[in-house]
Amino acid sequence: MSTLNEKVAVVTGGNSGIGYASALKLKEQGAKVIITGRSPERVKAAATELGVEGFVADVSDLTAIDALVISVEANYGKVDILFVNAGIFQPAGIGQITEDQFDHQMDINFKGAVFTIEKFLPILNDGASIINLSSINAYTGMPNTAIYAASKAALNSYTRTAASELAARKIRINAVNPGPVSTPIFQKTGMSAEQLNGFSNAIQNRIPLKRFGEPEDVANLVAFLASDEASFITGGEYNIDGGINVNPILS
Ligand code: NAD
Repeated sequence: MSTLNEKVAVVTGGNSGIGYASALKLKEQGAKVIITGRSPERVKAAATELGVEGFVADVSDLTAIDALVISVEANYGKVDILFVNAGIFQPAGIGQITEDQFDHQMDINFKGAVFTIEKFLPILNDGASIINLSSINAYTGMPNTAIYAASKAALNSYTRTAASELAARKIRINAVNPGPVSTPIFQKTGMSAEQLNGFSNAIQNRIPLKRFGEPEDVANLVAFLASDEASFITGGEYNIDGGINVNPILS
């Protein structure tokens, strides 16, 4: 069933992982999809594979977002679905946090998300759906994630306030909080293969459903929140994490 027929959807960071799977799902549901990313080669390759249009735009560069908005409007007119997905994860323990790591994660995960929304607002249709990709890390206190977690907690807070203000235009805005999902994000952390292996085994054991999420799991939720079937849902946060947030004391 095509529930998103003719809707225009923008997916930031759509060339990889959750963004890629979501772009595919939105397209399968009938949307006209535009993906963005930082690397011209990767954006081009993914856009070709997906059969969608790709634009290069670094979300931490506000001038680049301005240029993106101009291109999208010129080619597609108004936008119905904005999936604010681009993000990075740089692990660092308390006492090891550098100014660079702090600025980089905040600039992309929080400031980049906020200004993507601010700058797209004039070309969003009334009734549009914005989905912010946050993380259960906003709440878990998992070691070595303090600044990443704070960047996502800030995004969730922004989402709630924005929901009350954007309701006047019937624009809905929600946050999705995945648990661990199998994507390239972990390979980009600088952890060795051995560290990565230990990290993923330890986490997997704590997930009640005993597996990492797949990008498609998250894409299904994103497509639902994007659709008119979710027309009474705004200002919410939706965990999609195999139950890890349940944190049973006895098991
Ligand atoms: P990924 O590394 O496969 O994808 C990240 C995407 O963001 C890539 O397309 C990358 O090009 C893009 N990106 C990064 N910095 C950018 C920038 N400055 N400008 C434009 N694009 C940029 O990883 P993923 O796991 O698919 O991550 C997608 C989102 O999901 C992120 O926001 C991440 O924080 C969040 N998330 C991931 C997990 C997980 O376990 N994989 C869990 C919770 C939340």
